[in-house]
Amino acid sequence: MYPWLQPTFSQLSSRISANKLHHALLLQGADGIGKDIFALTLAKLLLCQDRQGEQTCGRCQSCKLNASETHPDLYKIESEKQIGVDLVREAIKNLTGTAQMSGAKVLIIYRADSMTESSANALLKTLEEPTDNTFLLLITEKPESILPTILSRCEKQVLPSPSLENTLDWVKQHHQGDIDENFARLFVGRPLTLLDELQQEQSFNYQDFITGIQGVMTGNLNAIQLATDWQSHTGKVIKWLQAWVKQSYLSTQKEGFWRINLLCIAALKKLKNPGVNKTLTLAELLAALANFESN
Ligand SMILES: [Zn+2]
Repeated sequence: MYPWLQPTFSQLSSRISANKLHHALLLQGADGIGKDIFALTLAKLLLCQDRQGEQTCGRCQSCKLNASETHPDLYKIESEKQIGVDLVREAIKNLTGTAQMSGAKVLIIYRADSMTESSANALLKTLEEPTDNTFLLLITEKPESILPTILSRCEKQVLPSPSLENTLDWVKQHHQGDIDENFARLFVGRPLTLLDELQQEQSFNYQDFITGIQGVMTGNLNAIQLATDWQSHTGKVIKWLQAWVKQSYLSTQKEGFWRINLLCIAALKKLKNPGVNKTLTLAELLAALANFESN
């Protein structure tokens, strides 16, 4: 388990051993801290037929099936878009049947905040009257987007983000080569995201990025020209820009940074649509930065 999630994992494991784990957990925490792995590891522990404290045995039939990702009592709901009611109904139907391995049944719902209202309503009954030995693990970065009726029936577990120091310690163990601390600061508390960024091809680097946005903010560079220069890196630039304005807001409390942060989040969502003009989307953000007003 990741070191920053270990205390929570140990605590939940001991409740599993004592048969006192709540049947529905809402695992909430920031992007890039390893929530999905946390949920999956917890699910495997619940399913293991011979667990030793917080360790799975690795030998039982359940562990073998989990190793090949074919456990018949582990269900997952994951969707790039909104989670529709059909997905939820199908999962509930599976959960209400008898466990095929005669042990626990587990349902993991990734990005639980993307459930539609009817999906959430379809889930309510299962949350209220769970069948025996059935566990639901809901994962979210945005608990505020989940219906209160769902929230009130789950036990909330806030998964912590590591400090900058702990982020760097961990990332250095997994990444060869130098790490620019200013760049790392953009992803403070999000070690998995930082590692992912570091391991990508470095044809566009942090220094180019900072020089560019400072140029736009001081009026020395033109937003449209820069967006055109950066057109093959739009996704990366907008992701970095969002992290940069967010950190800038946290350190200066200038509302203007927060407004641009929200624009970046909307832009990142927009980029998922095929056919969107990426360069134009970036140019609009850079123009907002050029017209930056601090309050
Ligand atoms: Zn096992």
